[in-house]
Amino acid sequence: MNSFQEFDSSSNSDSTVINLSAGNTSNFTPPPPPSSSSSSPPSSASTTLSRYENQKRRDWNTFGQYLRNHRPPLSLSRCSGAHVLEFLRYLDQFGKTKVHTHLCPFFGHPNPPAPCPCPLRQAWGSLDALIGRLRAAFEENGGKPEANPFGARAVRLYLREVRDSQAKARGISYEKKKRKRPQHPPPLPPSNNAS
Ligand SMILES: [Zn+2]
Repeated sequence: MNSFQEFDSSSNSDSTVINLSAGNTSNFTPPPPPSSSSSSPPSSASTTLSRYENQKRRDWNTFGQYLRNHRPPLSLSRCSGAHVLEFLRYLDQFGKTKVHTHLCPFFGHPNPPAPCPCPLRQAWGSLDALIGRLRAAFEENGGKPEANPFGARAVRLYLREVRDSQAKARGISYEKKKRKRPQHPPPLPPSNNAS
């Protein structure tokens, strides 16, 4: 199972072709609008899409680099939710979000009036979006959905924990961002009654 070898930066040439199929009507050139105001972009939808795709590819490469530098070496096919958590904690050192500890006088203050020595972390929203992109990238690169380490229960629980603790530490509520999460039903027992 070596279909995961796309981490080599040299093999990215095929994926640099951004999917334009949404607006690609072959050889059909629409007539220009009468008032040629050139300020409007051709298609904002595809721009947004490719920005997401670019970000996803960058994230995927970052994770691949993380795996390559991992000691002991770690292949994607052996990667579990625990390794994803390891990766997320590793990213915290590059974080820019101050998360106050319980001992900090500014705990629960969204806008502290003075600096404090509390650590900087990755904001929950960034991690949540990152995991979403990596989860999609994993399957686009040949990973099986049921083996997706980014969809592991431990990762979901960790993200929820980060969200709650950051909400408390900064006195802000993430509830307004609440959205429907796909609920994974518990696996059904096999229906064949083996005696
Ligand atoms: Zn603090």
